[in-house]
Amino acid sequence: MSSNQHYSFFQSVEKSFDKAAKFTKWDLGLLEQIKACNSVYQMRFPVKLDNGNIEVIEAYRVQHSQHKSPCKGGIRFSDEVNQDEVMALASLMTYKCAIVNVPFGGGKGGIKINPRNYSTYELEKITRRYTAELVKKNFIGPGIDVPAPDYGTGPREMAWIVDTYASLKPGEIDAAGCVTGKPVTQGGVRGRTEATGLGVFFGIREVCNMPDVMQKLGLKVGLQGKTVVVQGLGNVGYHSAKFFREGGAKVVALAEFEGAIYCEEGLNEDEVFQHRKKTGSILNFPGAKNLAKNTDALELACDILIPAALENVINGDNAPNVKAKIIGEAANGPCTPEADEIFSKNGILCVPDMYLNAGGVTVSYFEWLKNLSHVRYGRMEKRFTENLNTHILGQIEELTGKRVDDIERKFIMHGPDEQDLVHSGLEETMIAATREIMDIWKENPSIPDMRTAAYVSAINKVATSYVELGIFP
Ligand code: NAD
Repeated sequence: MSSNQHYSFFQSVEKSFDKAAKFTKWDLGLLEQIKACNSVYQMRFPVKLDNGNIEVIEAYRVQHSQHKSPCKGGIRFSDEVNQDEVMALASLMTYKCAIVNVPFGGGKGGIKINPRNYSTYELEKITRRYTAELVKKNFIGPGIDVPAPDYGTGPREMAWIVDTYASLKPGEIDAAGCVTGKPVTQGGVRGRTEATGLGVFFGIREVCNMPDVMQKLGLKVGLQGKTVVVQGLGNVGYHSAKFFREGGAKVVALAEFEGAIYCEEGLNEDEVFQHRKKTGSILNFPGAKNLAKNTDALELACDILIPAALENVINGDNAPNVKAKIIGEAANGPCTPEADEIFSKNGILCVPDMYLNAGGVTVSYFEWLKNLSHVRYGRMEKRFTENLNTHILGQIEELTGKRVDDIERKFIMHGPDEQDLVHSGLEETMIAATREIMDIWKENPSIPDMRTAAYVSAINKVATSYVELGIFP
C-alpha cells in the first residue's frame, strides 16, 4: 500500500480505519488508542565499511500495539525507509494479526539502506549492530517483539539476528523465539516458503464455497473449473497458481513484467517457470498465446484475478475494464481506493490483502510456538498415528475381506509431519478468518466492501482485548 497525494502512508491507514470505525460501537477514546503507535524507536549507529570509512546508519523499530504480546512484524532494508512508512506498516500488522487471530501486537522495523550497495560482510555487521541496539532498549525478545523478514531481508538476516540475540542473552532458553523466518536448521519451520500463496488459495476457496456469495456473483459453488489469472510468478504468485491448479481451478493466464500468456486449456506454473528460466521470458510458451501488454492479463474475462506482484496495479484507469468476478489481493495494496469504488459499483468482490496474504505471519506464529515448545511439530504424534491407522486399516481389511489399494493405503496410514500440521493450521486460520469477516458484512450490509468488513473485524478484536485488559473499564 502506498501513500496518495494528500495523505502520508500512515494517515491513509488511519483513514481506512476511520471508515471502518463508523460501523463499530466503540467510543472515540478507545478508537484513538487503537490507532496510535505506542512506541517509536528511531536510532542512528555507526558501521565501519570494507573500505575503512565510517557510515552512520538510520534505522527504526515501531511497536504499534501491545494489546497482545509480543509485537510482530518484518524488518525492511530499503532506501525508501522512513518513520511514517514503518509506523503505517506496524499498524497494518496489528490489524492483520487480529483478523487472523494471531495473538500478537503489530510491529515493524526498517533500516534505510539499499542492500545491493553493501557487501555481505557489511550487511552482517549492520544487521548484528541493529539487533544489539534493539536488545539494549528492550525492543526485541520472544515475549517483547519478534521481527521477521520483509523487503530486502530473508532467512540469512534472521539467522544473524537470532545468533546476536542469543549471544547477548546467554542462558535465555527461549532465545530462538526472538525472530521468525529463520532457516529450518536455525529453528525455522517447514512450510513457510509456500505459506502466503497457500493462504491465498485457502481464503479464496472458502469464499467460493459460500453459496450466497457465489449466487450474488453469478458463479457456481466451489473452485472446480473456475478460471484464474495470476499476475507475478514470484514466491506468492507461483505458489498461488500451483495450489489453484492442484485444487481443481484452471490457471488460464500468467503475467510477468516482460509480458503475459494465455491458454484456454490451463497452464502449469512450474512448466512456465522452467520455460522462463531457460529462455529469460514468460513469452512464447508452447501452446499459449502471447498478450500484447502484460497489463492485458488484468482485463481478461475470468472468474478469479490474483494480482501477486506490485502495489497500485489496478487503479481508477483500468478498474472499469476488469472482467473478473473475484479479485484476490495476494500482493500488498494492488488495488487503489478508486478501484475499490468501481468494483463495488460493478459487483466485483475484492478479497483484501490485509487478511488474504496473512499466511506468512500465521506460519511465523507457528514457528514461534515451535521455538517456545522446543520440539518439532509431529515429533510426538507421527508414529503413534501411523501405528494406530495401520492397525485400524488391518482390522477393516480383515473384517471385510477386501484390500485397500496402495494409494489409499499410503494416504490413510500417513501420520502428520511438520509441513502437514503447518498447512493444516493455516487452512483452519484462513477459513475461520474468512467466515468471521463475511459474517460481519452480512450482519451489516451497509458496510461498503470486504476490506472495510475486515477492518471492522480487526477493530472489534483489538478493542475487546483492551476492554478485557481493564484499561478502558
Ligand atoms: P517476488 O519478488 O518473489 O515476486 C514478484 C514477481 O512479480 C516477480 O517475479 C516479478 O518479476 C513480478 N513482477 C514485477 N513487476 C511486474 C509486472 N509489472 N507485471 C507482472 N509481474 C511483475 O515477491 P513476492 O514475495 O512474491 O511478493 C509479491 C507481493 O506479495 C508483494 O506485494 C509483497 O509485498 C506481497 N506479499 C508477500 C509475502 C511473502 O510471504 N512473500 C507476504 C505478504 C505479502
